[in-house]
Amino acid sequence: MAGNCVEVAFNKPKVELHVHLDGTIRPETILDVAKKRGMALPTDSAEDLARLCMLCKPATLTEFLCKFHHFMHVIAGDREAIKRVAYEFVETKAKEGVLYVEVRYSPHLLANTEVDPIPWSQKEGDLTPDEVVDLVNRGLRAGENTFRIKARSILCCMRHMPNWSMEVVELCKKYRHSGVVAIDLAGDESLNCEAHPGHRKAFEEAVRSGVHRTVHAGEVGPASVVKEAVEVLKAERIGHGYRTLEDRTLYEQLLKKNMHFEVCPMSSKLTGACDPDFTKHPLIRFKEDKANYSLNTDDPLIFNTTLDVDYSITQKYMNFTEKEFKRLNINAAKSSFLPEKEKKDLLNRLFDAYGMKKPALKGGTENSRDIQLIMSTHSE
Ligand SMILES: [Zn+2]
Repeated sequence: MAGNCVEVAFNKPKVELHVHLDGTIRPETILDVAKKRGMALPTDSAEDLARLCMLCKPATLTEFLCKFHHFMHVIAGDREAIKRVAYEFVETKAKEGVLYVEVRYSPHLLANTEVDPIPWSQKEGDLTPDEVVDLVNRGLRAGENTFRIKARSILCCMRHMPNWSMEVVELCKKYRHSGVVAIDLAGDESLNCEAHPGHRKAFEEAVRSGVHRTVHAGEVGPASVVKEAVEVLKAERIGHGYRTLEDRTLYEQLLKKNMHFEVCPMSSKLTGACDPDFTKHPLIRFKEDKANYSLNTDDPLIFNTTLDVDYSITQKYMNFTEKEFKRLNINAAKSSFLPEKEKKDLLNRLFDAYGMKKPALKGGTENSRDIQLIMSTHSE
């Protein structure tokens, strides 16, 4: 413990790859924006609003989604608010010791025109999904300049809105040089891509145009959703992926491919995705098998968490050590959607911070076996 600081599980630079911008908004900001826009909220206390937005015990998907109705209508459609939320997000992550973060959101869910249907019962305005992306990019960039960490974004397709997906991939292409690094598919996993070809077409276009891909799969849905994500949507990373373990062949294939799993411990408990007993969490199996995964907050506003809470859970209930924290963060950096040169820089910064010798880089980033070799000789 240092000075007045609370002891944290892993007090070294971290990489976070799975966090939703609209699930990280500060209650104070929601109140502030509502006041400016003359919108009534059920409370004017940040604490009460936070309590309203948070899940305290394992819930259903419907209960989880309900939480967003408390505040999304306040932020959506407001240019200044969207930029501010992105800026404040970077500040929060810098405070949590994150060196590099990929934050995701649906541009359509923050727009109020050229989106069908207009979300959150908003009146039609003049903020398009395209401009939303530009605003988030600007907010993130301003945050990067002030707080000296790197933030990139991932644009989400929503499973129940296949008609938005083509535009999402076009926005990924348009803004690929201004901070957008990938496409994602989020939402209700019971809606597969066979019944909703809009997503498949968008992801095919992503492959064609070199846009990176991650997919929420195997969180609540069965292993077949993971299989579809990998085989049909050509996902390079899996959001959650816990239920991959139910299909042994698939799991072994993904281990062999070094597929990255974006694991969110607290989220997986409160959404009811996993057994609430953390000592039975699928992550333990991932760890034993030296799988490629990261630790992430997902929606810290809804789960009332910080990144440290997720690290602490794994330390307390799953015997995670400093060595494992280093290994998983290096794997997260390697599985990030940064261009190769920036990825190498990020890895070098982690090696420095972790007191590990830099591997001789030959061409691309080194493979996980090299990393394991380095880990075994350089970290205690
Ligand atoms: Zn998520």
